[in-house]
Amino acid sequence: MRLVILGGPGAGKGTQAKKLCQQQSIPLVSTGDILREAIASQSDLGRQVQPYVAQGELVPDTLLIEFMAQRLVQSDAAKGWLLEGYPRTAFQAEELDFLLEKLQQKLDWAIYLEVPESVMSDRCIGKLNNLGSNTSQKNLRSDNHPDIVQRRIDLFHECTIPILEYYGYCHRLLTINGNQSPEEVHQEILEKLKL
Ligand code: AMP
Repeated sequence: MRLVILGGPGAGKGTQAKKLCQQQSIPLVSTGDILREAIASQSDLGRQVQPYVAQGELVPDTLLIEFMAQRLVQSDAAKGWLLEGYPRTAFQAEELDFLLEKLQQKLDWAIYLEVPESVMSDRCIGKLNNLGSNTSQKNLRSDNHPDIVQRRIDLFHECTIPILEYYGYCHRLLTINGNQSPEEVHQEILEKLKL
């Protein structure tokens, strides 16, 4: 099964993606996690993307498109995958389709976790507070500060909502109520995927 999971910051993408990957035994490719790990290890990629992630801005499309082209040809991705937080822009969505055409693969579904904007910001700011007094972790998650969270929400509306229309138009969109408990969200995803 080939899936993408989309949603604004704090929509629960990470939690649901992990559950679904475990359940389906498919690899999880989370661009947010990959970028945060790259920043923590101060790799070349990490140094390039750090200013964008810290400010809640989107990393340039070219970097992630190139990364995905290399990631999806790895052997563990042959039988399926779940992309979390990718695509995030119309350009990334288009490039993903081109890449899949080249690989003779097909995206099964785009899963959209819909939550009200107030829930997005409450969850993100809650995550920051839950990190307690650990300064290095707080620095790593500086993208959860309230003004940065608002920027990420604005970018979600501006750049990611148009992708939903695109997947809806090709009948590949599953909209899920993300404003429920993680277990209820998981069950709704399984029902809609008919698993
Ligand atoms: P996330 O954990 O998915 O909210 O991602 C955290 C941050 O990583 C975002 O605020 C962006 O700076 C960056 N990022 C993750 N995925 C993408 C993407 N597909 N395109 C551009 N930037 C991304």
